[in-house]
Amino acid sequence: MSLPTTPQGWAIRLTKILSLHQAAHGLPRFPIDVAALAQDFSRQVFPDAPITIVKGLLLSKGVEGMLMPHPSGSGEWGIVYNETIRSPGRRNFTLAHELGHYLLHRQTNPGGLECTSRNMADWDEARNRIEAEANTFASYLLMPLDDFREQSKGRIIDIDVMTELADRYAVSLTAAILKWMTITNKRAMIVVGKEGFIDWAWSSEPLLRSRIYYAARQSVIPLPPASLAAQEVDGDTGRHGHRHPAGVWLGSEPVHEMTVFSPGNDQMTISLLLYPDQAPSRWEMAELEEEATLDTVDKFMGGGAG
Ligand SMILES: [Zn+2]
Repeated sequence: MSLPTTPQGWAIRLTKILSLHQAAHGLPRFPIDVAALAQDFSRQVFPDAPITIVKGLLLSKGVEGMLMPHPSGSGEWGIVYNETIRSPGRRNFTLAHELGHYLLHRQTNPGGLECTSRNMADWDEARNRIEAEANTFASYLLMPLDDFREQSKGRIIDIDVMTELADRYAVSLTAAILKWMTITNKRAMIVVGKEGFIDWAWSSEPLLRSRIYYAARQSVIPLPPASLAAQEVDGDTGRHGHRHPAGVWLGSEPVHEMTVFSPGNDQMTISLLLYPDQAPSRWEMAELEEEATLDTVDKFMGGGAG
C-alpha cells in the first residue's frame, strides 16, 4: 500500500489502523493516545526512523513542542512537548502536531522542527505551509470528521457543547471550536484575546462570504470595549454569553458573544461570536449603514431622540 502524501490522507490512514486495533481489543475510540500511536506506528512502518521518545521537557518560553532527530545520527526521532504547559488538551494537540511534522516534513527538515504556540494557531497554508499542514493533520487525527459531525449534529452550539467535545477528544477548547468552524454552516467567529488586544481571529466560511473578518495581524487591534472579553465579567456570565446590539463587534449586525477567560495569568480570552444565520441583504445593509451613520450624527450633535 502506498503512503499518503497529504495531512488529511495521513490522518485518515492512522484513524483506520486505530479503529481496527481498538475494535479488536474492545478499547474506547477516544481520546487518542498519540504517544503510543507515534511510537508503535513509526516502528512498524519506518523501522529505520522510529520515534523512540515522547516526553515533556523544560523548553524555552513560547516553545510548545519539538520534533528532533537523535543526536547520535542513529535515525531515531523524538517528540518533545514543553512540560510547563499544564493543559492536557494543548499537550495532546502538540504531540499530534509534531507527529504530523514527522510524517510529512522530516525528510525536508532533517534537523527537526521547533514549534511555538503561535505556530499551533497557524492555519493559513499560504503564509506558513508546514505549520498549517501539521495543524490540519492534528485536527483530523484527534477529531475525525465523521465522529465530530455525529457529535455536533442538531445541537445548539455554545461553550458548554464545545467544552464537552474538547473533553471527548482531549483537545483544547480552541482546537474544538476551530474544528467546528470548518464544518459549520453558521456565521461564526473565534476571537482569541491577549492582554486586552486581539491576538488572532478566524471567521467561518459563511461569515467570510459576508466579508466579516479581522485581517491577519497587520496591526494591533484592541478588544471592543463593550465586549465581554474586554470587560472581564464573571465566568458564568461569560460562558452563558450576551447578545450585543450591532456595532459592538465587526459588521452591522447583532452578535451573540460567549467568552471564556483563561485560568492562567496571561490574560487570555477565547470568544465565540455567533452572527444571525441570515446575512443581511444588500438593501438591508444600506439601511443599517444609514442608521449607524444617523446614530453617529446624533451622538455627535449631543443627543438625539432616543
Ligand atoms: Zn510545527
